[in-house]
Amino acid sequence: MQISQRVQKLAESETLAMSRRANEMKEKGIDVINMSLGEPDFKTPDFLKRAAKEAIDKDFSYYTPVPGYKELQEAVCRKFKRDNSLDYKPNQIVVSTGAKQSIINVIMAVVNPGDEVVLPAPYWVSYSEMVSLFEGKVIEATTGIETDFKLTPALLEKYITPKTRVFLFSSPCNPTGTTYTEKELRALGEVFKKHPDVVIISDEIYEHINFEGKTFSLAAIPELFERTVTVNGLSKGFAMTGWRLGYIGAPKAIADACVKIQGQFTSGTCSITQRAAIAAMDMDPAEITPMREAFRKRRDLIVKLFKDIPHVQVNNPQGAFYLFPKVDWYFGKSDGKTTIKDAKDLCMWLLDEAKVALTPGGSFGAPDYFRLSYATSEEKITDACNRIKTALGKLK
Ligand code: PMP
Ligand code: GLU
Repeated sequence: MQISQRVQKLAESETLAMSRRANEMKEKGIDVINMSLGEPDFKTPDFLKRAAKEAIDKDFSYYTPVPGYKELQEAVCRKFKRDNSLDYKPNQIVVSTGAKQSIINVIMAVVNPGDEVVLPAPYWVSYSEMVSLFEGKVIEATTGIETDFKLTPALLEKYITPKTRVFLFSSPCNPTGTTYTEKELRALGEVFKKHPDVVIISDEIYEHINFEGKTFSLAAIPELFERTVTVNGLSKGFAMTGWRLGYIGAPKAIADACVKIQGQFTSGTCSITQRAAIAAMDMDPAEITPMREAFRKRRDLIVKLFKDIPHVQVNNPQGAFYLFPKVDWYFGKSDGKTTIKDAKDLCMWLLDEAKVALTPGGSFGAPDYFRLSYATSEEKITDACNRIKTALGKLK
């Protein structure tokens, strides 16, 4: 069977691939701790489940408007105003089947073949594949653990050229947990003001899992509002990964383009999920405090345990639920049987040796690292770190 060249070139999502491997091992009865997938282990709040059940009983069973129910667009506007000081109009809101679809819609809407898309690296796995699929050119703006993976205005300036069409980033960041402060984002904003043709995609899906305070939105800078797309969704903050709902606030022309695309690809997302999302948007963000505090305790625990593992370097992530240690010291080392060439080898070896599933850094644009998702119990985190430490101790 001939598969298109476009799809042949597309990489499988590494996060999903590692998780699949871990689940296959679990099905065989092997005791694997899966830290490869970024998915909250909390339950969806009861009031959202009730809203969904009510939607079923009230027969919300039919096709929805392509950008989402009007009531939901209005609720998203209220959320953006309340939490992010952003004044979007309902016709600037597009609701999609996960933030994944929100992002690919925007990329399709604005990127022409050869356009440069600047991604601060490390970046989330799917960004680069989405850009390449639509023949954009990925420009990695590489950062390292020494600077807490943060882009400075000077560094950003270096990567912007007359061909730059998009700047795409997440804060809090997947995979590093790095979270820009308002001051840092305003400083980057000064650079963007000098480059009026660059569209900014600000992925704020980890907004509520921020240990330092409020997540600042770049679109709140008035000069940038007209060319910034703000992305968010239900998956992370509300523990609703399987419900599939993401949304954007965008300049009207981009929102309209996304609606056109979505109308051909998927139509509006699930009616039941959308009804629950209306309730989610109006929720007091303070409701999320217990979940965030649980993540903070886990962050403190995993950082402490990792600092105790020889030859790895960690930062102190300020948001999301990932740790992204630098592990390149182990490249070239061997347990007497296997020699570890790179992070992918190291992750496969750890899966085998320690029965812990991790994601190698290469697909995040950072080959010297691997990623752990600590969205799991403190007990499992402790067990996993002990297993990793013992296993790594065998590499000489
Ligand atoms: N952006 C980032 C940074 C993510 O980590 C994820 C993870 N799943 C997504 C977008 C997509 O989320 P979803 O499609 O589940 O809404
Ligand atoms: N975003 C999550 C992760 O990075 C879920 C998996 C995915 O959608 O790639 O693990």
